[in-house]
Amino acid sequence: MEKYLKRPSTLEMGSYSKKHCVEINLGDLPADPGLRTRIWDYHPNVREQIRREYALKGPCQPREHNFRLLPCGDKLRQFNRAWFDRYSTWLEYSIKKEAVYCLCCYLFKPDNGKQGGGDSFVGEGFTNWKNQASLLEKHDNSTAHQQASRKCLDLMNQNQHIETTINKQTDKARIEYRTRLGASIDCSWFPLRQGLPFRGHDESEKSSNKGNFLELLHWLCGHNENVEAVTLKSAPENLKMIAPKIQRDIVSAISIEIINTIIRDIDDSLFSILVDESRDISSKEQMAIVLRYVDKNGSVIERFVGIEHVTDTFALSLKAAIDGFFFLDMD
Ligand SMILES: [Zn+2]
Repeated sequence: MEKYLKRPSTLEMGSYSKKHCVEINLGDLPADPGLRTRIWDYHPNVREQIRREYALKGPCQPREHNFRLLPCGDKLRQFNRAWFDRYSTWLEYSIKKEAVYCLCCYLFKPDNGKQGGGDSFVGEGFTNWKNQASLLEKHDNSTAHQQASRKCLDLMNQNQHIETTINKQTDKARIEYRTRLGASIDCSWFPLRQGLPFRGHDESEKSSNKGNFLELLHWLCGHNENVEAVTLKSAPENLKMIAPKIQRDIVSAISIEIINTIIRDIDDSLFSILVDESRDISSKEQMAIVLRYVDKNGSVIERFVGIEHVTDTFALSLKAAIDGFFFLDMD
């Protein structure tokens, strides 16, 4: 059974906090309208579920009840059960209080801080049997009731329900995000395979050459409607998936996958690490790392796995760089 939170009393509304919450379950919600907790006294997070639960059950109409006779002027009168049919969508009767209530107004009438919201169809209930017909009709036609009634209908219509709408939006956003990310990953593969640089000298909108990555992404948009619909100009400003940091993250993820594949290929076989160092054009010491091993088919394989910057070329520094490259414990 699903459990929800409920505020214990209206007195604590002003100082409401998590510690004041108590757990209830939907099965424990009282059916009799005279015994219900005010809808506004439930925690906002569960109010919608409780509304839906009551709306699904429909109005409480105990047709077999022996309606109590109440003094009304000089006569004894009682509730006329024929009204259940006339106002079948909202009219309720409380056996506990021998009074009439409105389900729609209970669920949706705005909270004005008073018990019952100043309306006898919620709170203490309606017991004026003398002018019953005209007062029920008056309530049915009142603006407040009409508004509450419309909200009830909307609640019952799942497609208009806010939760459904949010879920749909979430699903749509998730699909768009995956399409956008997939396009950025696909456009990273080509320069990686060809050993080409990603970035361009001028990546502005007006640039005639935005670099290999962006140019490839523009090309892909021009050839795939699904990608074009959610990428570059069609993407949210803060979620384009083309920032340099995103490109680096994608390249880093791909390099980890490639090294893992090479390690799986080596399996438990012996292997050697070939290390060579040289200075690059800016005089930085660089160390190239190559793995050499014999694969399952007996072929000698050499895989270049990366370049590491080193401060010097002493054996200890090179060993530390190799350990760091493969995330090994250096102790
Ligand atoms: Zn009403």
